[in-house]
Amino acid sequence: MSDENKSMHDFDFILLGEYFASLDRQGPGSPEVTKKALSFIDNLNEDSKIADIGCGTGSQTLILAEKTTGKITGIDLMPTFVDMFNKRIEQLNLNDRLNCKEGSMEDLPFEKEELDLIWSEGAIYNIGYQSGLEEWQKLLKPGGFIAVSEASWFTDEQPDEIKDFWNMEYPEIDTIPNKVRQMQEAGFVPVATFIIPNECWTKHYYEPQVEAQKQFLEKYPGNETAKDLVRSMVVEAELFDKYHQYYGYAFFIGKKI
Ligand code: SAH
Repeated sequence: MSDENKSMHDFDFILLGEYFASLDRQGPGSPEVTKKALSFIDNLNEDSKIADIGCGTGSQTLILAEKTTGKITGIDLMPTFVDMFNKRIEQLNLNDRLNCKEGSMEDLPFEKEELDLIWSEGAIYNIGYQSGLEEWQKLLKPGGFIAVSEASWFTDEQPDEIKDFWNMEYPEIDTIPNKVRQMQEAGFVPVATFIIPNECWTKHYYEPQVEAQKQFLEKYPGNETAKDLVRSMVVEAELFDKYHQYYGYAFFIGKKI
């Protein structure tokens, strides 16, 4: 298929994939934060089945593989990420315990009560936090754990500029106490919650994008889609710089009753 025949949406999707595939992470987080969230989970052994939903190119999945002994399946919608991650898995010789499948978080390839742990960093917003918790809960064994990071307000009130931005991007953003309550209502004991540190956004997410943006714009000179994508990421980083005391990601860890 030539570029002319691709719909704008396909082209956006490919460019978006290429931009984010050039980064180590596709969302805010860090190896330390993944390990910290994992420290609250105590039901795992070599027979455990773990799923990492919206795993991207797998940076946090590889930490899970390092720190657990069970079998891990990564799931992501973006073929570029899945291919990259599977190549990494092969290079690291982890095929016996770890694999990545292309698929949607709205139609996961797992049986009812099959999983011991569901992991999802910076991705559950794609299905929505509440409906993700409700749907994925069914796939966990009783006593199984869920650990997700999710956009959260740190205060009851926020300045209009940032409130408007989030209401457009993800209106389900809410305060941490409300998100904890929703986790409890979805059938989990809320085991732990913590706010991920600022450097997960700056050092691990926005700062590496500065060089990636330069290279991306050099590769696609004059391309409006590429320019729009870079511009939106720059705006997002500036808003974070200005308003990070009002919002961020929190990790929510729950145990299925
Ligand atoms: N967990 C990774 C990636 C977070 S970015 C990290 O923290 O770095 C969100 C990811 O969700 C992207 O990789 C995106 O491709 C994936 N995604 C978006 N919608 C999806 C869906 N419906 N099903 C599965 N994955 C999806």
